[in-house]
Amino acid sequence: MRVPDWQQAAEQAAAWVYPRRCPFCDRLLGPDAVQGGFCPDCAAEEKRLAHEPPRLPETEHSFYALSQALAAYYYDGAVRQAILLCKRGGRPWYARELADRMAVRIWGAEAAPRPGLRPQDVLFAHLPAYQCIVPVPPHQPMPGVPGLPALLARRLGLLFHIPVETPLQTVRGSSPQKSMSRAERMQNAKNAYRCRPGADLSGKRVLLVDDIITTGATASACALELLKAGAVDVTVAAVAATEELPKEKRTSTEKSK
Ligand SMILES: [Zn+2]
Repeated sequence: MRVPDWQQAAEQAAAWVYPRRCPFCDRLLGPDAVQGGFCPDCAAEEKRLAHEPPRLPETEHSFYALSQALAAYYYDGAVRQAILLCKRGGRPWYARELADRMAVRIWGAEAAPRPGLRPQDVLFAHLPAYQCIVPVPPHQPMPGVPGLPALLARRLGLLFHIPVETPLQTVRGSSPQKSMSRAERMQNAKNAYRCRPGADLSGKRVLLVDDIITTGATASACALELLKAGAVDVTVAAVAATEELPKEKRTSTEKSK
């Protein structure tokens, strides 16, 4: 789907006012930006960390209730840093670049020709007919501050012309998962999410969006709740997945570890 010229012009104007930055190193993006989304210095690292194909292997995660799980990158190096800066460092503008990278890496969208433009012409063969995009809700919501998944969902909704819905909420009292074992995470996540009362996703194919997929516990628990609310199919997509890097993608220092 082509973006109308006036919309492209408006986005370019916005890029003048709020210059786009490389999400991997924070450098201002100029005319030499690669695919309109990151700087030439980061090109090798971007390629190294790409999750190809984007579909996540079941063997590395514990999925249920999901029809598939997709990620643009491995959670490592510059990608890890970009996500952490976006989440914690208050650089929400990275979310736009990261969502654009998801569109290109996961669904084969044609990359933007210049910073400030959108990726376009998603090959519809790769983009199943999702009827809505749902972000994974933040664990500790901060009033007025959308989490990274919400920002990613918003941008992907804009790119794909799919409405974003927020039926999921975190159940109060559930604990953050960082320090838990895999089994504990699975159990904890199962009780951590609910759909809002009255949420109706009847007959919908849902694209669930998260920033990182670790065990798959969170995505699976959310998917189960979406199915309970009537969804017929849930796919999760994330910027990155924590998996062991394939040998050929490791740097020489990582190889010798
Ligand atoms: Zn860079």
